Amino acid sequence: MKFGGTSVADAERIKRVARRIVDKREAGYQVVAVLSARGKTTDELIAMAEEVSDAPHPREMDMLLSTGERISCALCAMAINDLGHRAISLTGSQAGIMTDTSHTKARILDVRADRIKTALAEDQMVLVAGFQGVSTTSDVTTLGRGGSDTTAVALAAAVGAEECEIYSDVAGVFSADPRIVPGARKLPVVSFDEMLEMAASGAAVLQLRAVEYARNHGVRIHCRSSFDDSPGTVVLSAGETMENPLITAVTHSTAEARLTLTGVPDEPGVAADIFRALAEANVSVDMIVQNEPSSAGGRAEISFTVPREDLRVARGALEPLASRVFKDLSMQEQMGKVSIVGAGMRSHPGVAAKVFSVLGGEGINIEMISTSPIKISCVIASEHVPRAVRALHGAFGLEGPNAAEAG
Ligand code: ADP
Ligand code: ASP
Ligand code: MG
Repeated sequence: MKFGGTSVADAERIKRVARRIVDKREAGYQVVAVLSARGKTTDELIAMAEEVSDAPHPREMDMLLSTGERISCALCAMAINDLGHRAISLTGSQAGIMTDTSHTKARILDVRADRIKTALAEDQMVLVAGFQGVSTTSDVTTLGRGGSDTTAVALAAAVGAEECEIYSDVAGVFSADPRIVPGARKLPVVSFDEMLEMAASGAAVLQLRAVEYARNHGVRIHCRSSFDDSPGTVVLSAGETMENPLITAVTHSTAEARLTLTGVPDEPGVAADIFRALAEANVSVDMIVQNEPSSAGGRAEISFTVPREDLRVARGALEPLASRVFKDLSMQEQMGKVSIVGAGMRSHPGVAAKVFSVLGGEGINIEMISTSPIKISCVIASEHVPRAVRALHGAFGLEGPNAAEAG
C-alpha cells in the first residue's frame, strides 16, 4: 500500500492511513506500506536548499529530501502502535533499497528485503520511507519526483506482493487530469503500453519508472482513492485488456523548457557531442528538432526540450561546447506539452490531422511535434495547455459514465 503526500498531510490523515493499514492486516493480509512526505514537504525542503545555495550539492540535497518521508513513516508507525498493533518504520536504506549513485534521480539496482521479510514474519506491519535508497557508495539517494511510487512497486516485486495499491487524492487513472477536465472519466483498466506513454507525457498519477518496473517485474498496480473504498484503475499487460480504444487519454505537462542552439556546424558527430554532454549531466531530453542549413557548408539549428527543473544543469553542460559546436544558445522557459494516447491509434490514420485541427481551431500554435505508434505530442506555450487539454478531450469524446469521481 502506497500513500501519497496528500493522504498523510496532517495528523488526522495519518491516523486514517494507520487505520486503513490495520484494516488490511485484520482482513488477513501482511502489509508493507510506503509513505510519501507530508503535503508540500518536499517542495518546502527544496526551497530551503535554494535559500542557502544557488546550486545545492546533490549529495546533500538527498540527505535533506529523504527526511520528509521518514517523518511520515515514523508518525504512522506510532499511530498503528496506538491501535494495538505492531509496526516498524524503516528508511529506504534499512529496507534494502540499493541504488546507483545519480543523486536526486537514482535508479534502483537491487532490493534486499530480508529485514522486511523478517519483520513481516514477526507479525509486524512495515512502513518504508518512499522515494529513497542507499547508493553503491553508501550515500543516501532519492529517486526523482514522484519516486515513492517506484519504491512501492520495487518492494511489491521483492516481497512477491499480490498487488501494489497506490492510494492518492484521485480515484484512479483518468482520461485527463481531473483538476483540468472535471468531466474526465475514470479508466477501470489501462494497458502497460498506454500507462507508460501517459506517465512519460505528464500524467503524474504514476511515476514513469514505477510503471516500467512493474512491467518488467510483473507487478499488478491498482491506483485508487485514499478517501474511499471504490475500485480504481488496474494496470494490465496487453493480453489482459479487452479492447483497444482509439484514444484513451489526453495528458499534459506545463513544466517543459526549450533550448535552441544556432550556428551548429553541419558535420558528422556534432549532434553526438551535444547530446552526450547532456546525457553525462543526467538530463533527459525529450523532443529534438534539427533544421538543416539551406546551403552547403552552412550551419544548422537544433532545438530540444528538457524538464524545466533541468534547465540550469543543461545549460551548464552545454556551455563548454560553445563556439566549437554552436554559436548561440537561447532558452524558452515557459513551454508545455499536450499529448493524446491510445492503443487504437496504431491502426487508424487521421488522428494526427484531427489533433492539429483542434489546436488550430483554438488558435494555439504548435511549436514541436513528436509521435510514437500510440501517442501524439505537441509542444505549445505552457499558458495554453489547460485550454488545449479540454479542447482535445472534448473533440475525441472522452467524457463518459465514470466522470466526476475525482477525489
Ligand atoms: P501523490 O502525492 O499521491 O503521489 P500525485 O500528485 O503525484 O499524488 O499524483 C496524483 C495527481 O495526478 C492528481 O491529483 C492529478 O491532479 C494528477 N493527474 C494528472 N494526470 C492524471 C490522470 N490522467 N489521472 C489521474 N490523475 C492525474
Ligand atoms: N515526496 C516526493 C515528491 O514530492 C516523492 C513522492 O511523493 O513520491 O516528489
Ligand atoms: Mg506522486
